[in-house]
This record gives sequence, C-alpha cells and structure tokens, in this order.
Amino acid sequence: MYEFIIIGGGITGVTLGRLLQMSGVNNFIILEAESEAGGLCRTKLIDGHYLDIGGGHFLCTKYPQVYDFIFSHIPKEEFNFFDRVSKIRVEGEIIDYPIESNLWQLSTEKQIDYLISAIQAGDFTGVKEPCNYEKWIKWKLGNKIASFYMIPYNKKIWGVEPNELDIDWLHKIPSVKTREILESCLNKLSDRRKMPSHNGFYYPKMGGFQTIFDVIYKNVVDRVMLNEKVIDLEYRDNYWLVNCEYKAKKVINTAPWNHLHKALNVPASLEDCFERLKNNSIVVSLWEQEYNHDWHWCYDPDLSLEYHREFFIHNFAPHSLSTGMYTETNLTRWPGSETSWSNGKKPIVEHINAVAYPVPVVGHSKAISTILEHYEIQNLFGVGRWGQWQYFNSDVCILEAMKFIKAKVL
Ligand SMILES: Cc1cc2nc3c(=O)[nH]c(=O)nc-3n(C[C@H](O)[C@H](O)[C@H](O)COP(=O)(O)OP(=O)(O)OC[C@H]3O[C@@H](n4cnc5c(N)ncnc54)[C@H](O)[C@@H]3O)c2cc1C
Repeated sequence: MYEFIIIGGGITGVTLGRLLQMSGVNNFIILEAESEAGGLCRTKLIDGHYLDIGGGHFLCTKYPQVYDFIFSHIPKEEFNFFDRVSKIRVEGEIIDYPIESNLWQLSTEKQIDYLISAIQAGDFTGVKEPCNYEKWIKWKLGNKIASFYMIPYNKKIWGVEPNELDIDWLHKIPSVKTREILESCLNKLSDRRKMPSHNGFYYPKMGGFQTIFDVIYKNVVDRVMLNEKVIDLEYRDNYWLVNCEYKAKKVINTAPWNHLHKALNVPASLEDCFERLKNNSIVVSLWEQEYNHDWHWCYDPDLSLEYHREFFIHNFAPHSLSTGMYTETNLTRWPGSETSWSNGKKPIVEHINAVAYPVPVVGHSKAISTILEHYEIQNLFGVGRWGQWQYFNSDVCILEAMKFIKAKVL
C-alpha cells in the first residue's frame, strides 16, 4: 500500500515526487503512460538543433520560491538570461510585443486607424464589460487590434471560435490602459513593465528546456514506472486500486482528467463537467532557415499561414546550430506530414502534442472545481496544468506542487 500514487511523469508529477522525498515520504510511485518522462518539457537534439518538442519553453516566474527550488537543483550560472525580444507580424508590418504598447512602431496611417479604434473601445467610452472573449477584446482594445491581431491569433492558437472562450484567463495578457496606448504613441516609447510575464527569461546553456526537468527527475527516477498508462481507477472505501495492481491511500492526478474519464467510470452527475474540459493539440515543426536578427520568437496572426508562432532557436540557445527555427501550429490547421506547407517547404521533423493547452471555454472553471471537489473527498487530488485544468506554465505547476505538499503532507 503506497502512501501516494502520482499519475503522470511530467514536471508536475516529478516535482510532487521530489517534494515528497524532500519531506521524508518515500512510499510513493509515479505512473507515466509514455516510454519516457518529461511530458511537455521534453527536448530532442535533431541534426544539431535543440528542439523543445512541447513548443516554445522559457523559464520565467514571479515566484521566488520556484527559482529557489530550480536553482537548488541546477546552479543559476548554468543558464543564460535574455531580455525578451518577441515580435508581432501585423498587417505586413513587424512590431514588438505587446501590441498595445508598440503601436507607435506601425506606419503613421496604421497608427491613426488603430488609435481611433482604441479610443472608440467600450472600456474607454464607459460601456459595461462583456463576458465572452471576442466581445471583451473589442471592448478593451478596439476593433482594429481585435480584428487584425487578437481575434485571428486566438482563433489560430485555440482552434475554437473566440466567442466560445471565457475571459477568466485574460490576466495572462498585458494590462495596458487606453491612456497608456496613446502615451506610448506620442512618446514613441513602450513601457516594458506592462508585460505580464516573460519580460526576460532564463534558458539553459546546455541542452534545452528539458535540462530543468532532468535535474529534478534524476532524484526520483527509481520511483517512476514508464509505459504505465492509468486505465483503471477504482475506489475501495479507503484506498485506490490503480490498474488492478497498485494500491494507494491517496492519488494525485497530473494527467488530463478527460483522459481518465473511462478509467474513473465517471458518475452521470459529472458527465457535463468532463464534457466542458477541452484541450487543443499543437504540432511543433523544425525548419532550417538563415536568420540574422535577434528575435526569440514572433507571433503571426495571419490566417493564411498555418502556424501561429515562430521560434529562432540559436538566439536563445547559442549552442544550437545557427539555422534552426521551429513553428507551433494548432493540429486543426496543420497541413499534415505528407502535404507541403503554404510556405512551400517541408519541415525536418514534426512532433504532435496531442494535449497542449487546456482551452478556456465558457464554464471550464466551474467544471474543474466541481470535479476536484467530488474526488477530493475520496483522496484523489488534481495538481498542475491538467490536474487543475488551468493555463499554468511549468513555474506555476511547481508552485502548485509546493502548495499541495504544504497543505496535505507537511
Ligand atoms: C506551446 C507551449 C508553450 C509553453 N511555454 C512555456 C514556457 O515558456 N514556460 C513554461 O514554464 N511553461 C510553458 N508551457 C507550459 C508547460 O509545458 C506546462 O505547464 C508543463 O509542462 C505541464 O507539466 P505537467 O506535468 O503538468 O503536464 P505534462 O507535461 O503534460 O505531463 C503530463 C504527463 O502525464 C502523462 N499521462 C497522460 N495520461 C496519462 C495516464 N492515463 N496515465 C499515466 N500518465 C499519463 C503524460 O504522458 C505526461 O508525461 C508551454 C506549453 C505549451 C504547450
């Protein structure tokens, strides 16, 4: 009988294991479905290019305890720190991210149009705040920014219509007031402090983002069972029987709840909640291309292009070959491995992340909290991006693992 079974060997699962170990609890195992651990935080070395197969991954957090945890496993000196250089391609012009603070970089004609639209926006003219994403973004930033960047970009990344999205994840986007938009145009200057996160970031000097995962993982590797997909979860009064084989007093789920639907034999009362948990799938494609700029990545809202973001590996991983770049594409927009892309090229390699982002459709927050409350009574908990079904980056996954251990173990 284990004290804990952890489902999923991504960064949340191994951090939970490591923290249990550091608290003196060794009676646990981690069950991982795939033949290797790491989940979305994996890196592959392909033809001299370090490819983060889960997409663009960078270390940046506002939680000092997360840096302390990571840097206690790998010295800070083993990272390069970069001031973020990210661009947006909007209507054929390239400006810095975020768009709200950098409209002044557009041609004068466009600036005028975007600014008129910004001061006509509902937030500035005193209209009541709407509650779906499409209306909200027009209300907040005006029709121009909404129509030429926010709406097409979000359509591309999420793969659902923007009017199906909730607004409870919008703390992730910069909070720039209309007055500040006007100010930045008049002063021809942006305020970098308005960036919500990733103003600067760390990236390992060796390998890729997986280096961070590996230094945590190596401590708990002997507790991890690979190729052990959880397909059966049975609650027997005061313990869980997992895959008809492993018993535990408590189970911590870090895998997507919708993938456990069958294993859990979900009661009818929770069917609607599970139905609300939607995720998208993202294809990461590696290309070779010459570039002689310093951009780390670029957002591309143009709906005629399949991908929504491009990354220039050598600019944040100088140990990677100088021609490496990769793109992120929603699976629903992916031309397929056999078909050629609209740029006329073929990628070197592609990786499909079947489960990439939890999609913030209307009602998702209520759905996940109902699921968590239901199972917590039976000592089945959810932690991390999938366990809590929230748009968490890996730093927040680590933070949530810390909070969980503090609340339930210490
Ligand atoms: C495109 C993209 C860009 C991102 N950029 C950043 C960034 O810049 N910085 C950052 O910090 N974070 C970033 N993230 C977020 C980061 O990847 C996640 O927050 C983090 O990796 C989530 O870790 P996890 O362990 O919770 O989930 P995962 O990494 O998804 O791991 C879950 C694990 O559970 C396993 N599993 C699934 N089902 C089962 C089952 N039935 N039984 C057993 N195991 C199962 C999976 O195989 C997987 O290994 C990004 C994510 C994406 C998709």
